[in-house]
Amino acid sequence: MHSTSNCRCRCRQPLSAKKAVKLAGLTVLLLVVHCKPLAIADDTHALHSHYLANAGVMVAKGETRLLFDPFFRNDYGVYQLVPADIEAAIMAGMPPYDGVDAVFVSHYHDDHFDPALVVAYLLKWPGVQLYAPQQAVDVMLQAVEMPGRDVLDRIHGLELLAGGETIEIHADEIEIEAVAIAHAGWPSRNTDIDNVAYRVTLDASTSVVHLGDADKNREHYEPHRDFWHARTARLAFAPVWLLLTEPGRQVLDEYVRAQQVIGVHVYDQVPRDPADRPEEFDGLDIFVTPGEFRNHDSAAPADSQSLLTD
Ligand SMILES: [Zn+2]
Repeated sequence: MHSTSNCRCRCRQPLSAKKAVKLAGLTVLLLVVHCKPLAIADDTHALHSHYLANAGVMVAKGETRLLFDPFFRNDYGVYQLVPADIEAAIMAGMPPYDGVDAVFVSHYHDDHFDPALVVAYLLKWPGVQLYAPQQAVDVMLQAVEMPGRDVLDRIHGLELLAGGETIEIHADEIEIEAVAIAHAGWPSRNTDIDNVAYRVTLDASTSVVHLGDADKNREHYEPHRDFWHARTARLAFAPVWLLLTEPGRQVLDEYVRAQQVIGVHVYDQVPRDPADRPEEFDGLDIFVTPGEFRNHDSAAPADSQSLLTD
């Protein structure tokens, strides 16, 4: 594990299943061991990403499946919703959405997070852990009549302050790191929203970053320069405004430094065909079609296909 100096939680030893530990105020219940079928035929060890909608993506490698911002029901009239067939497939655990290990929520805005859907998913899939800002967890606990302890024990509320400490959690086969980055609109809008960026490491060579609705200003990233430089992410999902603005591109280049960045949270009106998009999208790798997926270990540089359409 790297040696960031500002981490709140540092459990360096692999921890056994069902063992709860208290780490500086954060209760961490370790992932249960679970068996699952291989879902992505022929290339199970490759890193795949699957677009759900808006900032919702699934990352898959080997037997590990991670969902980021997958459950929401508001497009605010300008973004995309997860199509009903994809949402139903996720809920039903149909391949490729089977054997999910963890769900990550960046923040509680309605285009990222629906409390009832999240709880329904946790109820249905007892092997799934949820990681979310404590603020989102608090909203969820108020909005939904919570089920039993078995679900509550799998909900991990992260308390992070902008510019403050980061959190590390070793959970079974993955390492989770979380850092607060102010929500876009700072400093005039959304300053009361706790937005969490995740860096999840699946194996020694594969870390994936999801930035939620991160703001583009460098002052959110500079306090965590060592954190960002401690690992080179294979892949980052960034809100498209980071790719479309010079300050955004700078923080991606200088701090996040992922080998590949895919833009998400794209307006629904952005054409599906790259040839039809405005010039500012030239050369950008963005997800725009729910169901689209990429094989990041494929020899073909732009392996993009649709799983559930046709
Ligand atoms: Zn938001």
